[in-house]
Amino acid sequence: MSAAEKPILPAPGAPPANAIAPGAPPAGATGSADPLARPVESLAGVGPARAKALRDLGVATLGDLLEYYPRDYQLETAERPIADLGTDGVQTTRGEVVAVNYVPSRPRPRFEATLDDGAGKCGLVWFHGAYLRRQIHPGITLRVKGKVRLFHNIPQMTNPKWELVEPDETPDPDAKSRFRPIYPASSNLPSDTLERIVADNLDDALAAVAEWYSPELLARRKLCPRPDAHRLIHQPPDLRAAMFARRRLIYDELMLMQLGLGISKRLRDGRLTAPILRVDKTLDQRIARRFPFTMTPAQRNAVFDIIKDLQTGRPMHRLLQGDVGSGKTAVALYAMLMAVANRMQAALLTPTEVLAEQHFLTISNLLADSSVGVELFTSRTRRKRGDDARQRLTDGEAHLAIGTQALLQEGIDFANLGLVVVDEQHKLGVRQRATLRSKGHAPHYLVMTATPIPRTLALSYFADFDVTTINELPPGRQPIETRWLRSRQASEAYNLIRHEVANGRQAYIVLPRIDDDDADGAQGVVKRFAELSKKELSGLRLGMLHGQLPIEEKRRVMESFRDGQTDVLVATTVIEVGIDVPNATVMLIDHADAFGLSQLHQLRGRVGRGPNPSFCVLVADPLTDSAESRLSAMTRTADGFEIAEMDLALRGPGQFFGTRQHGLPEFKLTDLTGELEMLQTAKDDATALLADDPRLSSPRHAALRRALLDQFGDTLDLPRIG
Ligand code: ADP
Ligand code: MG
Repeated sequence: MSAAEKPILPAPGAPPANAIAPGAPPAGATGSADPLARPVESLAGVGPARAKALRDLGVATLGDLLEYYPRDYQLETAERPIADLGTDGVQTTRGEVVAVNYVPSRPRPRFEATLDDGAGKCGLVWFHGAYLRRQIHPGITLRVKGKVRLFHNIPQMTNPKWELVEPDETPDPDAKSRFRPIYPASSNLPSDTLERIVADNLDDALAAVAEWYSPELLARRKLCPRPDAHRLIHQPPDLRAAMFARRRLIYDELMLMQLGLGISKRLRDGRLTAPILRVDKTLDQRIARRFPFTMTPAQRNAVFDIIKDLQTGRPMHRLLQGDVGSGKTAVALYAMLMAVANRMQAALLTPTEVLAEQHFLTISNLLADSSVGVELFTSRTRRKRGDDARQRLTDGEAHLAIGTQALLQEGIDFANLGLVVVDEQHKLGVRQRATLRSKGHAPHYLVMTATPIPRTLALSYFADFDVTTINELPPGRQPIETRWLRSRQASEAYNLIRHEVANGRQAYIVLPRIDDDDADGAQGVVKRFAELSKKELSGLRLGMLHGQLPIEEKRRVMESFRDGQTDVLVATTVIEVGIDVPNATVMLIDHADAFGLSQLHQLRGRVGRGPNPSFCVLVADPLTDSAESRLSAMTRTADGFEIAEMDLALRGPGQFFGTRQHGLPEFKLTDLTGELEMLQTAKDDATALLADDPRLSSPRHAALRRALLDQFGDTLDLPRIG
């Protein structure tokens, strides 16, 4: 994990790691250098070639090797006669080769041999084993090792490992069955070799592993000591022991994360550096009048939370969550206008340029007759008039900047940036926050997400955020009936659309990308648009929308649909967010299996906004189980929270956020989806620990403190704690 991906924000000019708690001696300072920092080149059994292979696996030091955990385990039984072979784990036996055969069949030619030890026979098969013809022949004796299957009651091994033995050499009487680790290997560093390297160096490494917690805590949480955990995860006597070790190390990973988050939250709360933004009754009314609707009570509550945050002088860190269409943008816009009224600038960051354009269109419409200057930053505007827009931000002439996160990295100098709003599930990466800070800004920070954050993530990645939930939709929303049709039933969907259009309603048809080169699905839309106008939907007024159209064209197409001049809009996911046409009652998603669950839910949220019953039709012939579960989940529930939990379970937390930009720590062992309980435990324990020793300055926390610094480096501005 590189420093830039770490989740804790760095402070400019943070002191070196050892400045953490000036009173306490750094752990390990008494002896020489930290043994765990020893480079792999210096380890037992590692020459230059292996050192390079280890580094290729990300193992550069003894400490890395210690944390290079097995991905699985396997029982390897001691050598036994053929008649005694079992079918569990890996078995070893020996015998004389009594027959060989080469079968050159395509596509998998194989070499076969038969072993006989006098009391039993064992079949051996090596696929692609042509080279063995020169090495294995009747009369020699082999020791073989592999998984055993019974084939017509005769044991058989496929692709066994083998070695020649002298006929009179007897099996080692002391050999025992072993439970062996399987390491994530590479072609030039097989698991066996890794196992040996670990075994040769484990004692040295363990000597440097210190316990992090008090005996009381270990007892209370039924955790094994840290050195034991490291030994057992590499060399467990059985699976139970391995799981026990794993549990302890997962707890440690979660503890480090929770301590890091806890410390960074304390840090932030202790600083009074953000601009103080105020609002009075007059300003409140002036802002509220900008919206063509009255905010729902839930939106007002959200606004109220934000107003409270903005006037403290501490940087706001708030997560605004609410289902699709719950009106988060309005709340965010309120906050942005508040910043502007307080003579500060605001930036709205989106995951895609298309979304930026859409926000730009909506917001500049709402602010059309005001003096607020709004600037859009996309690759297109950058080419055309980027420098002017940039200048206006630097001069403070422009007040709102809308663009993707790249906006922060392109050397744009804000005159006085007071608020950053991030739309849709993305936390600002540490790098971007660092960029802001380096420019002297400590803006307030609001993250909007339509997919409610599942509890596991709320407890982890978003643990240092305050959360506001908008739990009601604006009035007048209709329930949506969701159907899933196979492609051969698709005509039903088009009949439905014709029926709705005949009754004066409108429809969306959304298509996925065709291939990777198909920037946001434009190709598919262009083709399908032509087909539909000739066939299924001939005679209807069709419009087409995709990300490749110039913004003026997009604006025209959307306006035509909004005004009811277009019956059916054939589009890419550009319409995922931000389009609001209450008269639209059908959302047809073609090849729906190509979309993620949250995305499907987002798209569905585009209908059901008017007084008429609405429909979401998914057309798909899914090829995988997970696509199938997504589609049936959609027909089963419309609850955004349930959808989010399912999405997380199906895709895992990394994918959940779409990109790696989220700045989340990566764990070696922990899979968050399965660790809700452990996560809660670690959070409780970390909170208690910091309450007791906020600087981790007590000598009994020296090892823990050092581990924390190793993980977070100088991004944890520790000396300022407490
Ligand atoms: P979100 O970003 O939460 O998905 P938006 O802010 O885009 O939702 O709002 C969805 C639509 O609902 C927008 O077109 C907006 O104009 C409309 N809307 C928002 N708040 C209200 C409200 N209180 N009453 C009526 N319509 C609203
Ligand atoms: Mg939105």
